[in-house]
Amino acid sequence: MRYLEPHAHMVSRVTDDYLQMATAGCAAICEPAFWAGFDRCSPQGFYDYFCQLTEHEPKRAAKYGLPHYCWLCINPKESEDVQLAEEVIGLIPQFLDRPNVLGIGEIGLNKNSRNELRVLERHIDLAARTDQLILVHTPHLEDKLKGTRLILDALKADSRIQPDRVIIDHVEEHTVRMVLDRGHWAGMTLYPISKCSSARAVDILENFGSERLWMNSACDWGESVPLAVPHTALEMRRRAWTADAIDQVIYRNPIRFLSQCPKFKVT
Ligand SMILES: [Zn+2]
Repeated sequence: MRYLEPHAHMVSRVTDDYLQMATAGCAAICEPAFWAGFDRCSPQGFYDYFCQLTEHEPKRAAKYGLPHYCWLCINPKESEDVQLAEEVIGLIPQFLDRPNVLGIGEIGLNKNSRNELRVLERHIDLAARTDQLILVHTPHLEDKLKGTRLILDALKADSRIQPDRVIIDHVEEHTVRMVLDRGHWAGMTLYPISKCSSARAVDILENFGSERLWMNSACDWGESVPLAVPHTALEMRRRAWTADAIDQVIYRNPIRFLSQCPKFKVT
């Protein structure tokens, strides 16, 4: 089996996870910028984090033959302080030319607040001005439907944004259709206790098709499973998916989306 892990927070994981992912057939890992488990109190904290994502983490992954890519932003959970967010957004352009940076993400909404929405619009503007791909985080549970609608409208309001250069992550049964209908890609996150189980993810694929969908573990500092994508491939096998159809979802689809960034290469 070969697969991509298109959304993993490896700075929160132990090195053994790299070994296990490489052994399971992982060909590349992509790491969106995210919350660290605590609120950072200054732009300098984010500067150091962006250095970690662009300089240090790729070296750790390379020891296991794994290409490591990343996305940069201030995540929605820390976007309530608009002044801090604007200072962090101001730091991002100096990192965009680094060889493993794929675009702006994971931006989006957490509590669907007015300030979060303002910061989301600033990120969309930055991506449009600098011609970057976008990776979007959608809120959890009861806020997901409303938040997804707000995000889709914010993207549509900026005429410079091409829908197929944006992936909306953490979709579920009630949000996947509207994301695909707007022309975006959709990501499903496989979590043991919330978000999609393997069975739910494969149900979604069987109902909505696998044309512009990918799956990820979004493994982070919380309860999560770095091998969730290959585990779900086993569920697909149990349901008699062909090897080629599985390969499309877990390998060729993420490559198709990510290759829109010329820096992305899988050997
Ligand atoms: Zn994430």
